[in-house]
Amino acid sequence: MHYIYWFRKDLRLTDNHALARFLKDAVNGSSFSFIYIKNNNSYRYFGEKRIVFLIQCLEELKQDLSDFKSELQIFSGKSIEVFKNILLEKNPVSVYLNEQVEPYCRERDESVRKLIEDSGGIYNSFTDSTIFSPGEIKNGEGHQYKVFTPFKNNALSILTKDHYKKHVCDFSNINNKNEIIFKSQLKIKQDKKISGVSGSVIIKGGRKEGLSKLRDFYETKLNRYNSQRDFPSLNATSRLSAHLHFGTIGIREALRTAFAGLSKSESEKDEKEVQTWINELLWREFYYHITFHNPRLTYQSFKTEYDDLNWNYDESNFRRWAEGKTGYPIVDAGMRQLNKEGWMHNRVRMITAMFLTKDLFIDWRLGEKYFAEKLIDLDFSSNNGGWQWSASTGVDAQPYFRIFNPYLQSKKFDPAGDYIRKYVPELSSLPVEFIHEPNIMNHTEQEKYRVIIGKDYPNPVIDHKAAKDIAIRNFKKAAHKL
Ligand SMILES: Cc1cc2nc3c(=O)[nH]c(=O)nc-3n(C[C@H](O)[C@H](O)[C@H](O)COP(=O)(O)OP(=O)(O)OC[C@H]3O[C@@H](n4cnc5c(N)ncnc54)[C@H](O)[C@@H]3O)c2cc1C
Repeated sequence: MHYIYWFRKDLRLTDNHALARFLKDAVNGSSFSFIYIKNNNSYRYFGEKRIVFLIQCLEELKQDLSDFKSELQIFSGKSIEVFKNILLEKNPVSVYLNEQVEPYCRERDESVRKLIEDSGGIYNSFTDSTIFSPGEIKNGEGHQYKVFTPFKNNALSILTKDHYKKHVCDFSNINNKNEIIFKSQLKIKQDKKISGVSGSVIIKGGRKEGLSKLRDFYETKLNRYNSQRDFPSLNATSRLSAHLHFGTIGIREALRTAFAGLSKSESEKDEKEVQTWINELLWREFYYHITFHNPRLTYQSFKTEYDDLNWNYDESNFRRWAEGKTGYPIVDAGMRQLNKEGWMHNRVRMITAMFLTKDLFIDWRLGEKYFAEKLIDLDFSSNNGGWQWSASTGVDAQPYFRIFNPYLQSKKFDPAGDYIRKYVPELSSLPVEFIHEPNIMNHTEQEKYRVIIGKDYPNPVIDHKAAKDIAIRNFKKAAHKL
């Protein structure tokens, strides 16, 4: 039997569930290989900053493996084709991997599993990218939860140390003489850098970078997380989402860090700061569970009655939203942060998503796709969950009649306008009284601050109050309440 370790969303050599088992099992003279498969098809929706991030992760992983005198063999193509080629060289194989819940990945994995098992091999799959196995948290009737709070309460009540224990990866068990380098034509010599593409200045790939972010978060931010996380001008959240997605930081590591913070807490307030971060990690678990149970979410609303909504497909409005030119400063700041950095603060993700789906009444699927193309941390479950929450079409979503007022959100969460000034520099001369709603300035004020509305900064793309009434009416109609 030839042993293969297949890296996917677990690009690290430490505390990696499947890898720990692989390193235990692939002993006693058995041959082995480490592989990663790049499928250019699925990269079609990857933004360039995300690709740079991924390449940084792969380069570091390759280096880390070479420190153990092993090689990361990178293949290009559809996974099933890669394995068919591998089987021509080595058969049967015992493949180790950490499972994925995304519907397209499950289809891919099922076909690979069948191929391997049909040819006499073994397919070994483990849970690693979530704390709980997909579907592990069930309600009293054994079904999925459709509301977050009972899901969270149940998750915390069944959580044991086993869920977040460290899986030690011991490379001393394997003998490098037994490593096989495949000749397969689908192998690529070097993961090519993409010319002319730049990465993100704030979200860099690789385990070292992830660890340094986790450490910094633990030392300087975790004890203020609940109080500060909603203010986009503050650097107050972990910015670990891309690392958690690609597995350069493990979710168990993150949870252990949270518990370490909790044990240091000296008051109820301190505890609350940390517990809120644990809650966010559990939202991630919740959305992974929802994806696992509902593969249809790739194209359908969770609340199917809202698939009858008569969405607007106004291309010009969509463009203005995407480019950050809506005339609503907080929305424009968010979209420009996304376009520039490949990341957006959570509060502003909610504001911009709600603005697209409620004010502009544009189908959430278009916004979801745009985010997917731009975000470094794109994660199907959290992105789909966040979009459907904002659009009110999702599981445990914001009720359709509770539509964010972008001006009030802006005043509440960016009170001094610092976030807006950073990403919408043409408004930086405005005092606080006008920064959130510059179009209320009269002509003299516009001249005084050198911001002429309609010339230096756009008029609002739509009237919020009128748009809100229309959205509510449309939702009521779709839910047969009118
Ligand atoms: C419209 C929309 C789209 C989103 N798309 C994504 C996405 O593609 N990928 C993604 O990882 N998150 C997404 N989120 C969730 C959230 O905005 C990001 O996880 C968060 O902003 C990442 O920053 P951070 O790492 O500093 O988070 P922190 O505040 O430090 O939180 C820690 C971790 O918890 C998880 N988390 C936090 N908030 C949420 C949440 N609301 N839902 C699910 N998981 C959460 C993330 O893994 C995050 O890294 C989206 C939210 C919305 C409203």
